[in-house]
Amino acid sequence: AEELLINSEKQSIAGQLAAGIAHEIRNPITAIKGFIQLMNSGFPGKREYFDIIASEIGRIELILNELLVLAKPQTVKYERRDVGKLLTQVIALLESQAIMKDVQLAADFECGDVFVWCDENQLKQVCINFIQNAIEAMPDGGEVVVRLARAGEGRIAVAVVDRGCGIPAHLLSKLGQPFYTTKEKGTGLGFMVSKRIIESHAGDLTVESREGAGTTVRFTLPIADEMP
Ligand code: ADP
Ligand code: MG
Repeated sequence: AEELLINSEKQSIAGQLAAGIAHEIRNPITAIKGFIQLMNSGFPGKREYFDIIASEIGRIELILNELLVLAKPQTVKYERRDVGKLLTQVIALLESQAIMKDVQLAADFECGDVFVWCDENQLKQVCINFIQNAIEAMPDGGEVVVRLARAGEGRIAVAVVDRGCGIPAHLLSKLGQPFYTTKEKGTGLGFMVSKRIIESHAGDLTVESREGAGTTVRFTLPIADEMP
């Protein structure tokens, strides 16, 4: 299997982001401007133009919502949380989405109650991102396994395993780059945001993938054994 250790060096993330945001938001804005001009000129088909404008605005909203996570680090609140419980909640949340795509979500917890220090919403967002990516990688359905196991050295590992399309070796390094997406309706921000969140939780992230066979996204976090 191809493996990539995602390093934590900040490869001018701000610069990449700025260029990406400008590009990603200019496209829908150009479209909106064009359709408003068309409507102004009395061209028929107003109904359709409104729909297009609404969907382009929706796209801008989606991008901005994901970016806000990066822009609001001061609201982060670290608490002691049971990882298994958190994963169970996330799985329940995504169950209906998975079923609609013929995907079964399976929990494989190899350990009892394990606690970590985390911002609950952020950690949930990470798990949602990875599980959604796994679901989207399997257009014909299948099983996504969410694994929880001790990783040694006082750490816990969470792995999201799919048997989906996989990622070609030469594209692995693109993961986590802002706006890198292969999906028609993707933002290409989920992975980057997740990576940042994991780093801020003293975690590390590994992706193992084989094209046509599937992907395992795995991250570890320090276990919080004692109350402070
Ligand atoms: P998005 O999901 O909006 O495309 P992400 O940042 O979550 O953005 O993912 C970026 C890209 O990485 C995806 O478009 C896809 O090509 C690839 N990817 C991520 N996770 C997986 C996976 N589990 N299987 C296959 N490809 C994946
Ligand atoms: Mg995604």
